[in-house]
Amino acid sequence: MIKVENLSKKYGDLVVLKNISTEIKKGEVVSIIGPSGTGKSTFLRCLNLLDEPSSGSIFIDGENILDKKVDVSKIRQKMNMVFQSFNLFSHLSVLENLTLGPIKLKGISKEEAENKSMDLLRLVGLAEKADNYPDELSGGQKQRVAIARCLAMEPEIILFDEPTSALDPTMVSEVLSVIRRLAKEGMTMAIVTHEMAFARDVSNRVFYMDQGLIYEEGSPKQIFDAPKKDRTKAFINRIRNFVFQIKTQDFDFYALNGEIEGFCEKQLISKLMRANLLRVVEELLILYKPFLNKIELELEIAHSEKTNQLSLICQTKGKKFNPLDNKDLEDDIGLKIICKFTEVVEFKWADNQNRLELLFIN
Ligand code: ADP
Ligand code: MG
Repeated sequence: MIKVENLSKKYGDLVVLKNISTEIKKGEVVSIIGPSGTGKSTFLRCLNLLDEPSSGSIFIDGENILDKKVDVSKIRQKMNMVFQSFNLFSHLSVLENLTLGPIKLKGISKEEAENKSMDLLRLVGLAEKADNYPDELSGGQKQRVAIARCLAMEPEIILFDEPTSALDPTMVSEVLSVIRRLAKEGMTMAIVTHEMAFARDVSNRVFYMDQGLIYEEGSPKQIFDAPKKDRTKAFINRIRNFVFQIKTQDFDFYALNGEIEGFCEKQLISKLMRANLLRVVEELLILYKPFLNKIELELEIAHSEKTNQLSLICQTKGKKFNPLDNKDLEDDIGLKIICKFTEVVEFKWADNQNRLELLFIN
């Protein structure tokens, strides 16, 4: 139904969308997730022609909508959009908000438009509010009116841009229920959202967008339970990290400890885990120390807010070197401490780079 080929968007020198190609089929519900500033809104706005793509093509039912001959308002009727900030007309009643488009753009009679709009207001639970003005409604109600208004144009596709982000938490579910109902009825939808549980159960497919790309896509199960790529994993598991570069043997050990403590504080890591972490870092640095004037060590601490997993990643450049793999150190206390508190997830030597990843045992 929607086919996007090599879609790019630039604002001046800023490249916001980088050669996106994808398809959305009829009846599909696609959720778009990802960090803010990665181009999710821009992507929807380009589909809807609210922003002009810098290059690429967009086909709706085989018709190239970037063709200059295309009637933009027809496209927007076919593919209507619901915004985070509702965008209702405040000087019009709820009912008038719904009837305006059909009367003006579709040439439907006032009576017919009103009858149909009342049906739609019933569908979203707001028939009683038909004569009220938007200011008299709660945020959740306003958004349901905005959805009904979108439906009044009889779109074949609806694009939602964070429809619940501007709402009080108590009002999120009333809006999500309406969207769920549309999904059940087979409406084709693309939904940008931060509501992960919702995205998981409403969609057929999930796009994870990052830095202007659809970085990974898959079924909800695949993306939420078994993301394949690094940045998807970090996003899904809400991983925060802390990186420290050590360039000489005389590096500031107290500053490092202080920064680790600060990171643990922010991440609400338990006292016990924190003590283990500091101990392991200290012992590892003793093992690395003889080499520290020859190599640089990058120490990364990563914590998942979702699973509470804590890991430590040590990277050095140069020839193969694993500080834990040393026959002379078999009885070394430091090594024993490291092995007691952590397990080795990975040691890899590739492209002249050593990567040792340790996971703290809970
Ligand atoms: P998201 O919806 O994923 O948070 P956006 O699509 O809103 O991301 O924005 C992506 C990037 O494009 C951001 O860096 C933003 O600052 C930039 N951007 C968005 N709209 C404009 C604009 N009209 N002019 C210049 N830069 C813009
Ligand atoms: Mg956005």
